[in-house]
Amino acid sequence: MRDRTTPLLTEAQIQTRVRELGAQLAADYAGKDLVMVGLLNGVYPFFADLTRATALEFEVSFMQVSSYGGGTESTGEVHILKDLDASIQGRHALVVEDIVDTGLTLFKVRNLLLDREPASLKICTLLDKPSRRRVEVPVDYIGFTIEDHFVVGYGLDYNGKLRNLPYVGVYHP
Ligand code: 5GP
Repeated sequence: MRDRTTPLLTEAQIQTRVRELGAQLAADYAGKDLVMVGLLNGVYPFFADLTRATALEFEVSFMQVSSYGGGTESTGEVHILKDLDASIQGRHALVVEDIVDTGLTLFKVRNLLLDREPASLKICTLLDKPSRRRVEVPVDYIGFTIEDHFVVGYGLDYNGKLRNLPYVGVYHP
């Protein structure tokens, strides 16, 4: 499986960018009551690195959603598999995601979390594929903007595997 990937972002490129994002978040959220919300499963390596690169005190909480539809892309019908264990009401919430593709998942998650009346709600993604967007969703922090490739590694899977690759590669089935 690994030999069917062409490297797109090296481990060093990712780590440099993560440190930059961490510094930006530390500046933007200084003195604020922040909850970093990780969207499982794909976000786990990015979330672990980004939170450690952000020199602030904040709470972390995880959410897991699934999009059903039977196809290869999300339908926008989002089901909560695991909800946050932290309240975000009156607090600053930052949703951290691995990749924004059609935008349907984050669109729904964003509306769901906005109903809980956070003081602010922003979105940070490692990867953005804007050419595939089907709904407008404001993405405030972007690690890398990429072309329309199916990518794996650094959290992103192919049939549940390859999440543990330390780099991001294009997968050729
Ligand atoms: P969206 O609702 O924005 O279309 O879906 C985002 C989700 O689709 C991501 O969290 C991810 O699970 C999956 N996804 C989108 N593009 C890719 C990709 O290139 N590679 C992998 N492995 N997953 C992707």
